[in-house]
Amino acid sequence: MNRREFILTSGVGTLGLAAGVGGCGASSPTGVAPATTQKEERTMIHELPPLPYEVTALAPHLTAENLELHHGKHHNAYVVNLNKFIEEGKANGSLTLDELIMASPEGPVFNNAAQVWNHTFYWNCLKAGGGASPSAGFEAKLAEAFGSFDEFKSKFNQAAVGQFGSGWAWLVKNHDGSLEITTSANAENPIRNGQTPLLTCDVWEHAYYVDFRNARPKYLEDFWGWVNWEFVESNL
Ligand code: FE
Repeated sequence: MNRREFILTSGVGTLGLAAGVGGCGASSPTGVAPATTQKEERTMIHELPPLPYEVTALAPHLTAENLELHHGKHHNAYVVNLNKFIEEGKANGSLTLDELIMASPEGPVFNNAAQVWNHTFYWNCLKAGGGASPSAGFEAKLAEAFGSFDEFKSKFNQAAVGQFGSGWAWLVKNHDGSLEITTSANAENPIRNGQTPLLTCDVWEHAYYVDFRNARPKYLEDFWGWVNWEFVESNL
């Protein structure tokens, strides 16, 4: 899946939302429904986007048990919470997911909206079967920014392992086109800072505890064999 397909099927951007396609309510993890559609005139119904692969596709890195819990329970809970806030009038139902993230102050609405976005992005950063590597051109960009591809991975891992508590590690593009490794706590998201996310790794314990127990460094080490570089590069 490239960035455009991600936007269209996740409802993360405005294209999918403006089109108002798809059904209401949470969709099956194996379905093809988009994350968000319109109810009546202006109210957005956010949906759980299906995984872009089967639940067994990331094993042995991440097992089906992990994905069923992480996607089917954790990711889904953020979607359910966000829709509840809209129903209760606590969140603006006329805003797209991106708009909610940008407009909401720190608190439950922002946390759940951003976690819907972050998880959808994370699933798309991974690739069924693993064994992928970046294109020569992108590897050169990473080497230019971070010294070498191996140094990039090492610096990303250091940042991810060093993120205290729950959060995310990111490769982002800044306004000036430069690449940067950042981390965010809890639900925070680089789009709030005007940065363009290219790659993320979920370092909440729920992302790896089933398969790696407390070994976050091992989870990070294994992560690189499963990155969807086509998606990452398309985000540039
Ligand atoms: Fe997560």
